[in-house]
Amino acid sequence: MLIVIDGPSGAGKSSTAKAVARKAGIDYIDSGALYRGFTLLYVMNGQKKSKFFEVIEKDILSFIFYRDESRVSINGENVTEKLRSEEVSHNVSTVAAFPEVRDRVSVYLKKAALFHDCIAEGRDLGTVVFPDADLKFFLTADINERAMRRQKEMSVGIEEVDFNKVKENLVMRDDKDLSRKAAPLRKADDALEIDTTETTFDEQVNIILTEIEKHKKKQLT
Ligand code: C5P
Repeated sequence: MLIVIDGPSGAGKSSTAKAVARKAGIDYIDSGALYRGFTLLYVMNGQKKSKFFEVIEKDILSFIFYRDESRVSINGENVTEKLRSEEVSHNVSTVAAFPEVRDRVSVYLKKAALFHDCIAEGRDLGTVVFPDADLKFFLTADINERAMRRQKEMSVGIEEVDFNKVKENLVMRDDKDLSRKAAPLRKADDALEIDTTETTFDEQVNIILTEIEKHKKKQLT
């Protein structure tokens, strides 16, 4: 079974998908981590497009997704911790708009979802990468709520991250993700929209688990 969740940054897609993966005993695929892996390579190569395109032909970017864990490596070095840096977050929507990068990520995602039941989250999964997914969800939330959540998430263990800076980054990424030519952020017509501004975390997880159960029952009849 393949379940996809799309939506803007900070809507709660990854935490919700991880909880669903744990409870349903399936694998979680974080497509944003793939774009962030490519972005790290872009940043490491001085944000030079020509050098970046040379490097992605030879450097080995590998991804492992198992249950609610994901790991990204470059030439064998685990770089997962570096994927959420400010520099990567600042550049990721630029790199994610390169069609060559989208094609590579798309191929990887399709392979990863081939042999396992999984829940994948991103921006274009229900519309472009997996139009035939078994279940599709679109998570949204008010921008201030999303910025507050992201700020809280980023402030763990280090000094508090500035709210306005976090909000600015989300607005900038929303804007780029919605307006790019290649696979822009859109709700698939057949996706169930969940506005998480007012729902509790458990409520949003349960909505998805209930839909999974309904889908399983339908398969049996
Ligand atoms: O989900 P996350 O915030 O880690 O995603 C980082 C960025 O990767 C997004 O802002 C978006 O530009 C890009 N992305 C995408 N398509 C996806 C997943 C992520 O364009 N399916």
